[in-house]
Amino acid sequence: MNTSNAWFETTAVHKSQYPVSDIPEIALTGRSNAGKSSMINALLNRNKLAYVGSTPGKTRELNFYNVDNRLYFVDMPGYGYAKVSKSKSSSWADIINDYLMSREQLALIIMLTDIRHEPSKDDITMHNWLVKSGTPYIIAAMKADKIPRSQINKNIAMIRKTLNAGSDIKIIPFSSQTKQGRDEMWSAIKSCIPSLAEDEE
Ligand code: GDP
Repeated sequence: MNTSNAWFETTAVHKSQYPVSDIPEIALTGRSNAGKSSMINALLNRNKLAYVGSTPGKTRELNFYNVDNRLYFVDMPGYGYAKVSKSKSSSWADIINDYLMSREQLALIIMLTDIRHEPSKDDITMHNWLVKSGTPYIIAAMKADKIPRSQINKNIAMIRKTLNAGSDIKIIPFSSQTKQGRDEMWSAIKSCIPSLAEDEE
C-alpha cells in the first residue's frame, strides 16, 4: 500500500452519500479537538490532508479519506457539542448510529481519548456504545508528548479502569507531534484488514 497516495474523497451525512465501494474502513471517534484530523495526517505522513483545528462542533459529517484505494479513514463527527445538532434534521447521534450499526466494511474503530485526563462522561457513553456495537475497536491515548514517559503506564491504566475496558482491548499511547505510537497503530489497523496483512512496507 502506498500511504502517500491518499486523498480526501467525500463528506456524508446520510447513508446514500457514503462511498459506493467495498474497501475496508477505519473510523475515528472522539470528542471535538481530541486529535482525529491530526492522527490521520500523522499516520499518512501528511501535514494538511485532514483539516486540523476546525471550529469545534462544526464538523457534523463523516469525512472519508481514501488511502490508495486500499482503505478509508472515516473521521466521525466529534462529540461534546451534541446539543448544537439537535435542531438539525440529522442529529449527531443519528449520523453516528446509522454509520456504526450498518456499515459492513467497517473493520476497526479507533476511539481517541486524552492521556492526561480521566475519560469524560461522553467518552464513557461512546465506549459503551462501541462495546454494544460489537465492532472491533482500539483506544488511542492522545497527546502522549504532553506527559513524562514515566507516567504513561499509570495513565493508560487509569483510562482502562474508568472506561471499564477489558484487558484484551489495546490502548495505544499516541502523539501526532512526535509520531509516538504510529507503528503500533498501523499494525493494529493491518491486523484487522486481511487484504493488507501481507503488504510489505
Ligand atoms: P479533531 O477535532 O479531533 O480533528 O482534533 P484536531 O486534529 O483538529 O486537533 C485539535 C488540536 O489538538 C490541534 O490544535 C492539534 O494540533 C492538537 N493535537 C492533536 N493531536 C495532538 C498530539 O498528539 N499532541 C499534541 N501536543 N497536540 C495535539
